[in-house]
Amino acid sequence: MLDLYLKNGLSIKDDSPLEVAIRGHKIVAMGHKLEDIKAHQTINLQGKYISAGWIDDHVHCYEKLTLYYDDPDEDGYKSGVTTVIDAGSTGAENIDDFYDSNEDKITNVYAMINVGKTGILAQNELGNLDTIEEKALLDSVEKYQNFIVGIKVRESHSVVVNNGVEPLKRGKKFQKELGGSFPIMVHVGANPPDLKNVVSLMDNNDILTHVYNGKPNGIIDKEGNIHQFVWEAYKRGVTFDVGHGTDSFNFNTFDVANSAGLVPKSISTDIYSRNRINGPVYDMATTMEKFLMYGFSLSKVVSMVTEAPAKTFNLVTKGKLEEGYDADLTVFELKKNVANKLVDSNQNERIYDKKICPQLCVVMGKAYEIGE
Ligand code: ZN
Ligand code: ZN
Repeated sequence: MLDLYLKNGLSIKDDSPLEVAIRGHKIVAMGHKLEDIKAHQTINLQGKYISAGWIDDHVHCYEKLTLYYDDPDEDGYKSGVTTVIDAGSTGAENIDDFYDSNEDKITNVYAMINVGKTGILAQNELGNLDTIEEKALLDSVEKYQNFIVGIKVRESHSVVVNNGVEPLKRGKKFQKELGGSFPIMVHVGANPPDLKNVVSLMDNNDILTHVYNGKPNGIIDKEGNIHQFVWEAYKRGVTFDVGHGTDSFNFNTFDVANSAGLVPKSISTDIYSRNRINGPVYDMATTMEKFLMYGFSLSKVVSMVTEAPAKTFNLVTKGKLEEGYDADLTVFELKKNVANKLVDSNQNERIYDKKICPQLCVVMGKAYEIGE
């Protein structure tokens, strides 16, 4: 006897029929049409798309902060995202509490630990280097091996104040202690430090988030071309991540990057309560629509929120719709012929004629309908 049978779905790869059978926490069978299935629960998807569960690798969902806070389930399953990775909201001092507070959440929650022990309690957490404590950080990573999947370092002026790239240098040292392949996500924004000095420290285990922001210290030079040092980082395998956020995705920047072929590996939202409710982020579906609008195929866009982040953060049982993988799935409709107004972080608007509407999530084998 199976637990859950999703019938009459549609593949995002070629629009062919797709059905999925689940036992416990795992996908156990898939095909165009499954025969003789007996399951405790059967859901008729009536021709809706079915994909691996979406993973958002840059969110802020520690509820006890005063600015960058949210409920993981609001950023998560209620908007089609089955797994969220909190990007450094907490550090060694408060990550225990963050871990405990996720106990009754439905969404799968992981965390990058902030290199500073306070996390983003104040917004200048790396302005005082005393907040960076090696032992405390390494102890936390050791304690929460199934929860902490990376380190977060925020390298913009208001965060580091006069400390330049020193926090990232220390993060790189800790990464080495942890075996070298532990991912570090780096937030960038206003300078100093200059983007060049930040990026030059990064390698193929690192993730550059907020890549396509429209700020002066960005990826585009005065002549309107992509900086050479950005290309060099891209070529040596630094993961380029969207991290849309309130301030960090600009259509004009992405026009330049996209025509040059400097495309992201992963799409993430940098969502928290305020930019979820008031925009410009709203949710993962809206962020994905921006890339569909740019001509990326549906299967490419979905892979940027499933396979890509799973690979970056070593979530080896997630990110793929395949037998043996975790039963995390997202079911959605792609509505056509709509006038969907998309807004970037600088109030630029574009109109797109399609809209992604998540309908149902399966998280670790259990199905949840998504309300409007
Ligand atoms: Zn950031
Ligand atoms: Zn963030």
